[in-house]
Amino acid sequence: MTSLLDLRRSVARSRTVETALRFSEERYRSLFKSIDEGFCIIRFIDGPHGPFGDYVHVEANPAFEHQLGIPHATGLTLRDIAPDDEAKGWLELYGNVLRTGQPIRFEREFGPTHRFLEVAAHRVEPSSRCEVAVLFIDITARRRAEAALRDSEALARENVERVQLALAAGAIIGTWFWDPISDRFTVDDGFASTFSLSATVRQEGVTLAHIMEALHPDDRAGLAAAIDEAVARGGAYVHQYRTRRADGRYHWLEAVGRVDLAPDGTPVGFPGVFIDIEERRAVEAERARITEELRRLNETLEQRVAERTTELMRTEEALRQSQKMEAVGQLTGGLAHDFNNLLAGISGSLELMQIRMQQGRLTDVDRYVTAAQGAARRAAALTHRLLAFSRRQTLDPKPTDVNRLVSGMQDLVQRTVGPSIHVEVVGVSGLWPALVDPPQLENALLNLCINARDAMPDGGRITVETANRWMDERAARKQDIPEGQYLSLCVTDTGTGMPPDVIARVFEPFFTTKPIGEGTGLGLSMIYGFAKQSGGQVRIYSEVGDGTTVCIYLPRHYGEVEDEEATAKLETLERFDQGETVLVVDDEPTVRMLVTDILEDLGFLAIEAGDSAAGLKILQSDVRIDLLVTDVGLPGGMNGRQMADAGRVRRPDLKVLFITGYAENAILGNGQLAPGMAVLTKPFPVETMAARIRSMIEGPKAASPSIRRSPNL
Ligand code: ADP
Ligand code: MG
Repeated sequence: MTSLLDLRRSVARSRTVETALRFSEERYRSLFKSIDEGFCIIRFIDGPHGPFGDYVHVEANPAFEHQLGIPHATGLTLRDIAPDDEAKGWLELYGNVLRTGQPIRFEREFGPTHRFLEVAAHRVEPSSRCEVAVLFIDITARRRAEAALRDSEALARENVERVQLALAAGAIIGTWFWDPISDRFTVDDGFASTFSLSATVRQEGVTLAHIMEALHPDDRAGLAAAIDEAVARGGAYVHQYRTRRADGRYHWLEAVGRVDLAPDGTPVGFPGVFIDIEERRAVEAERARITEELRRLNETLEQRVAERTTELMRTEEALRQSQKMEAVGQLTGGLAHDFNNLLAGISGSLELMQIRMQQGRLTDVDRYVTAAQGAARRAAALTHRLLAFSRRQTLDPKPTDVNRLVSGMQDLVQRTVGPSIHVEVVGVSGLWPALVDPPQLENALLNLCINARDAMPDGGRITVETANRWMDERAARKQDIPEGQYLSLCVTDTGTGMPPDVIARVFEPFFTTKPIGEGTGLGLSMIYGFAKQSGGQVRIYSEVGDGTTVCIYLPRHYGEVEDEEATAKLETLERFDQGETVLVVDDEPTVRMLVTDILEDLGFLAIEAGDSAAGLKILQSDVRIDLLVTDVGLPGGMNGRQMADAGRVRRPDLKVLFITGYAENAILGNGQLAPGMAVLTKPFPVETMAARIRSMIEGPKAASPSIRRSPNL
């Protein structure tokens, strides 16, 4: 039986144990909280956490939270605090500890705090608790010191090399020993002259202040900082700066040395050498200068290339534009040629029918009807291809008084644009003549006025103005025409104007902003072609809302303007019966037939050829030929002009009449025809053709009797 005393004792004992336990736990807890080492206990938790499970922090001290940068870690799991891929590594490590009971120890840098930690993990016993105790010891300072030592050792090795090289090059100019504690230098002569130290100073003792005095002012702060750093750290030292020598100039040098520290960290010596690096610096500076220069050159080169490229692109754009115009010109030129041939066939047939009917020779009429119908059919087939007017229609450029032409058009223009638009003509007096095809210019003027009218639906004013212009080299280059004298014909309206993107495209054939059926988009492209072919240019000045000026520039013609050409009108066709023979070369049978019939009516003999090869063969034969009538555009390898020139080798006096629907100025020598040559434009009235042929065969009656026909022949 237990006595009361026993019971009391037992109670007292258990109280003591309890108190002791509480006391012990508090002691450990405060120890746990106050130690510098991070400490935590983690417990394995199973569940939906992948193959390695997870660990919850059941205890974590402040040092742990500080070292790993995780406040309030208790309750968080490993996966809560570590990124996914990193967590896996940890889980695996702790898993091993739990399973095997083998503690682990390793070092690792922790990303968030940039601290190096030594980690030691132990299984908490009994293992059934599934807990791991982890201790973290901060070893950052040790790691940094090791790194610094490595750096210093590397620098020391480099310094050895520096000194060896300098020795080999004879570049060591002095040595020193400095006692940092007493601030006294042991100096040799080289040192003394490097820092211009006087004998007195040497005697009294050289201090860092003397050194600083000789330094370039810009280098002083840098040297002081470098020395402080080296002395604090110990080990290898290298620094570059300038000192003033006896000659008063600053020279670059490199100080290479070493700070020796006592075990307690006190600097006990700082020996070193000075290396002359003047030459090295000069070489380096030169290299830097060259690099800089190259870099700058490279930059400006890029800029120059860029400028040049833009210029090229501009030129290319201009070239493309003019090539496009050229292509369209050729296309429409070809079409116009065909069409004019057919028209010549039709109108010629009609005229001949009239003549035959007057003569009562009705049997021949059928032939002409058939010919005209055939030509008309082909013309109809052509019309759908006739999308553009040709810019090569200028057949007969004549010296032209543009003022007279403009005032002759004023009535027509006014009637065309209507009463709501006031047309004003300002013709400068003394306007130079131009060498142009007058109907084309009239057409161009009318087109410009119609464009102006269309831009002024509510009425306004059109001003037609002429002027003489001198294009100097710069202006000419800007306008893309040769330098020289030009006259201008400008049409200005007070209409809607054009935005730049429209201006950029107006010369494109078929470009129009007008509704279908109202604009063809050919007006300005045709005018452009005409102006270019006449050796001139077209320019547009336009502001949206203000109006538009379109100017045609034409080269000045040096010469007189002829009076209106008096076209000979033949009432009856005189006949010649002397065997005069005319060679007719044309690829269009209708034209050949017409010309042959006209010749017959005049009493001449006609020989026909369908191409240049056949024509030349006849020209080179002995057949009598008084006149060659030929088309300019011919099949058979040569154009009409070339065939005529070839024929003239054998027949120097051969007279030539070119008939053509699209005489290229260039082919006919830009309007400058050799004597005995003339041009006739298709379509032409039969009388004109007859008169031309007759006057050419007869020759100018008074001027050259030698080629006058003798009545007795
Ligand atoms: P179209 O008159 O058949 O449209 P054009 O070649 O004559 O063809 O003109 C092309 C385009 O240029 C016109 O559709 C118009 O947009 C613009 N344009 C020409 N002249 C003028 C002008 N005087 N004012 C405003 N726009 C113009
Ligand atoms: Mg137009």
